[in-house]
Amino acid sequence: YSILFIKCRESTTAAAVDSSVPPSEKYEYQAEVSRLMDLIVNSLYSNKEVFLRELISNASDALDKLRYLSVTEPGLLKDAVDLDIRIQTDKDNGIITLTDTGIGMTRQELVECLGTIAQSGTAKFFKALKDSKEAGADSNLIGQFGVGFYSAFLVADKVVVLTKSPKSEKHYVWEGEANANSYTLREETNRDKIIPRGTCVTLYLKHDEKGFAHPERIEKLIKNYSQFVSFPIYAWQEKG
Ligand code: ADP
Ligand code: MG
Repeated sequence: YSILFIKCRESTTAAAVDSSVPPSEKYEYQAEVSRLMDLIVNSLYSNKEVFLRELISNASDALDKLRYLSVTEPGLLKDAVDLDIRIQTDKDNGIITLTDTGIGMTRQELVECLGTIAQSGTAKFFKALKDSKEAGADSNLIGQFGVGFYSAFLVADKVVVLTKSPKSEKHYVWEGEANANSYTLREETNRDKIIPRGTCVTLYLKHDEKGFAHPERIEKLIKNYSQFVSFPIYAWQEKG
């Protein structure tokens, strides 16, 4: 792995409101997801930093999938962007953005992957939770099994996922908040915001967790948790 820190001069000020933006639609989480979110948000789990390992591992999986599929479908790599992971921090606003150039998700995959629990890791977590009779075991189980994508809510109030799959022409945005039992989906049509391929996860950190948006902290976590990721990881910070 490699880490590179660059000072970025561009600012991420929101683009002017565009009246042609497609409306967002609201979806309920599957009951297990609501329960998991509730556990994550309200647990006293102290090792909150695992969120970064989970998000980097998802990015790495998405890059692996793309690389694997491109062996038989070289056209998947037609957008000439490197296979890598970029982490940007904005410490003044407490925002972390993690972008990969992997396989991305279609609209349907967003609903299936980030609205239901189908994956093995989280399913195991629930089984362990059911089997466990100890009081206070919940927070230990979070660490033991990992809770995947939803671990973002250990540190963030709001999570926004922008994604583009090679199977779809469109870009989609998933948006979820801690303490909510629904999320929203919409198409992204603003050309300034879209990415050629892959997924961009933005975390709006909780007030008490804004310290994670410091590049030194991110660098340390990458070193601790993600040494064996086989794609380059670049980290840089917002101007300031
Ligand atoms: P797991 O990684 O164990 O499957 P997660 O909760 O971490 O569980 O992620 C759920 C699913 O969401 C993944 O299996 C994947 O399909 C999708 N996903 C999450 N992050 C990304 C990403 N960066 N790019 C593409 N798909 C993703
Ligand atoms: Mg995962």
